[in-house]
Amino acid sequence: MSVASRAPAYIRSISPYQPGKPISELAREMGLPEASIVKLASNENPLGMGPRARDAAQAALSEAFRYPDGGAFALKAALARKFGVKADQLVIGNGSNDVLEIAAQTFLSPGTSAVFSRYSFAVYPLATNARGARCIEVPAKGFGHDLDAMAAAIEADTRIVFIANPNNPTGTFLSGAELEAFLAKVPEDVLVVLDEAYTEFLRPEQRYDSIAWLARFPNLLVSRTLCKAYGLAGLRVGYAIAHPDVADLMNRVRQPFNVSSVALAAAEAALTDDEFVARSADVNRRGMAQLTAAFAELGLEWIPSSGNFVTVKVGDAVAVNRSLLEQGVIVRPIAGYGMPEWLRVSVGLPEENARFIEALRQALA
Ligand SMILES: *Cc1c(COP(=O)(O)O)cnc(C)c1O
Repeated sequence: MSVASRAPAYIRSISPYQPGKPISELAREMGLPEASIVKLASNENPLGMGPRARDAAQAALSEAFRYPDGGAFALKAALARKFGVKADQLVIGNGSNDVLEIAAQTFLSPGTSAVFSRYSFAVYPLATNARGARCIEVPAKGFGHDLDAMAAAIEADTRIVFIANPNNPTGTFLSGAELEAFLAKVPEDVLVVLDEAYTEFLRPEQRYDSIAWLARFPNLLVSRTLCKAYGLAGLRVGYAIAHPDVADLMNRVRQPFNVSSVALAAAEAALTDDEFVARSADVNRRGMAQLTAAFAELGLEWIPSSGNFVTVKVGDAVAVNRSLLEQGVIVRPIAGYGMPEWLRVSVGLPEENARFIEALRQALA
């Protein structure tokens, strides 16, 4: 009997997360110079890191031989100020992926379940399965969340409902009014994890104040990240805002030093850089228009997206993706999400979008 075979069945049956292909890997495979490759596969900020975050990260490097502040005092103070919450409502994660994992570790175990939508973020089933809990996957409405069906799917053993808004990989959006009506229906002993990884990209008329809802819904957890609009994907920082009792349990479960000192310093500085986030959202809005205009011209169907990426139907996505890779363009196939005819493309800089569009035209020809 091998050691591997002794791992719990729920661990052995996990299907691994499929990340975007790294630039260095494609460069090796195709013999291309790294500088010639366009990566639009992981919803990274095409502007890079904001100047304040970069300076703070560089300054923090010389102290990186010391353990970080495990309590993240300074970052929590900055978040508390920014959002008008108390420090004891905060959990800092090594990316918001970590926040999702910590929530699962805190509330899920064998004999419990988590509810999430079809075509939603791959980490929800991963985090659920890793705790031996049961996944309740609810059919989507269009390619987005069917909140009525999700409320109806909650069972006696359900401990968490995961909602991504905007959703990844489809970019669909739920209004504040829809979410509020949903929260009012969910039993108070079920944690609603509202994953707002792309909230900074919402248009002004789409915005809603989920943090204000925490006063009325102590079973709400708002998850956000510095890895997308703030450009810190490689440094890994995210956070949860929740009821103090929920945050307290999660802070007991997380690793004592889960976020590096460099990431903490960069995040604190990044939060002050509203100008960079506004510029990122602006670049995104224009790039989205550039991409969708090209899809229209090519006669391709796409899912209107509120994030910094858009999902487009190309037919034989395996073949189209192979051709894109040969042309040095990395996007994300999403067959693993049950969408084998679609590709998800992150919005890049104008010239990156143009490279992708040209390569897509070639691939389809
Ligand atoms: C990218 C993403 C995250 C997590 O990103 P981190 O880099 O871990 O902060 C969480 N949720 C959704 C829906 C995402 O797309």
